[in-house]
Amino acid sequence: MHELAIAQSIVEQVEEVARSQGLAKISTIRLRIGALRAVVPEALEFGFEVLSQDTPLAGARIVIEEIPIRITCHECGAISSPEPGLAWLCPACGSAVVEMTSGKELQLDSLEVED
Ligand SMILES: [Zn+2]
Repeated sequence: MHELAIAQSIVEQVEEVARSQGLAKISTIRLRIGALRAVVPEALEFGFEVLSQDTPLAGARIVIEEIPIRITCHECGAISSPEPGLAWLCPACGSAVVEMTSGKELQLDSLEVED
């Protein structure tokens, strides 16, 4: 269950921010997660709930923005979004010389604080 490991790292990051900025209570945590990470939001939320007990994050809402997979073609420069699991070819020119430019994100986007 890799969501637990992801939740752990998010809790640590947010705790660090809360400590350094003196935030007493976090109400919302916004994350950007790439589609390639294949994160199950419910599993992530569950892991978070367990791990955030007795921290300033306890009870915070998790908002996940899923970032689609995007590939950029090296031949013609076209940017496209392939379906996960399919061969990655440029839909404009058919080239297989493509580079993934998004889809692996795992970022803390922003925090909202309770007054
Ligand atoms: Zn192309």
